[in-house]
Amino acid sequence: MKIGIVGCAGRMGRMLVSEIENSDKATLAGGTEPPGSPHLGQDPAVLAGCEPTGVAIVEDAAALFEASDAVIDFTAPAATVVHAALAAETRTALTVGTTGLSEEDSSKLKTAAERTVIVQAANFSIGVNLLLGLTEQVARILGGDFDIEILEMHHRHKVDAPSGTALALGDAAAVGRQVDLETVSQRVRDGITGARTRGDIGFATLRGGGVVGEHTVMFASEQERIELTHKAASRAVFAAGALRATLWTEGRANGYYTMQDILGFS
Ligand code: NAD
Repeated sequence: MKIGIVGCAGRMGRMLVSEIENSDKATLAGGTEPPGSPHLGQDPAVLAGCEPTGVAIVEDAAALFEASDAVIDFTAPAATVVHAALAAETRTALTVGTTGLSEEDSSKLKTAAERTVIVQAANFSIGVNLLLGLTEQVARILGGDFDIEILEMHHRHKVDAPSGTALALGDAAAVGRQVDLETVSQRVRDGITGARTRGDIGFATLRGGGVVGEHTVMFASEQERIELTHKAASRAVFAAGALRATLWTEGRANGYYTMQDILGFS
């Protein structure tokens, strides 16, 4: 499969290029960076620490979509919306890892998926996707006597909070409890907040150093506490999952899919 990487000079972009270069099932169709990027014209494989390919990083995303069987996008929300429209126009499969998308952005992705195959996951690791399933199950089994809190920590460069994965975990807990996350979520606490409201799903965010990604879902009652924790040791885990998802798109019917579909959990 010929795979293009938009944002190929980013932290995840480089991991994705390296994953493709080390795969016998995929070849690199090319990569993009936005206008003004110092990496335009460079070889994305060399940037990723691999052997030169002779491919140069360009700004023309439309050309990359034309040249690719599938494209992987770990960039920024505004760019991802444009890439989804290009995927629909060129009927190229798109794997989206970008987080921090608004509801409006997400609905644009789903509209694009009417004309092509789109896979989206806030976290492409198998362990986190297992954690999502477990969180839903535990929330369903435990009653309202257990308070649900979600704690996440990421590296100092992360620009959105809570992480897309933390929100997905909150959503899984809400589905398990048969409530709407929007109406019960407590995203920030500061100052005299008053006592915790029963049924709330709380979030807490830590940022620092080079932490790849850590998430804990706590279920706390007066007598006991259950904690489900996942720690990613390397970004390679996300790149491997995204490549697996992208290879899975071959021959699929148009539509919007998640990692749960790919791993057969849904
Ligand atoms: P980064 O800032 O290192 O990389 C983003 C890259 O996208 C940059 O190189 C930037 O120049 C490029 N970019 C921005 N706009 C572009 C455009 N219009 N066209 C082409 N390239 C463009 O960030 P990162 O740490 O690699 O993370 C990127 C995104 O992936 C974030 O939203 C992050 O939260 C998400 N992420 C998701 C997962 C997952 O498993 N789903 C894992 C890690 C990171």
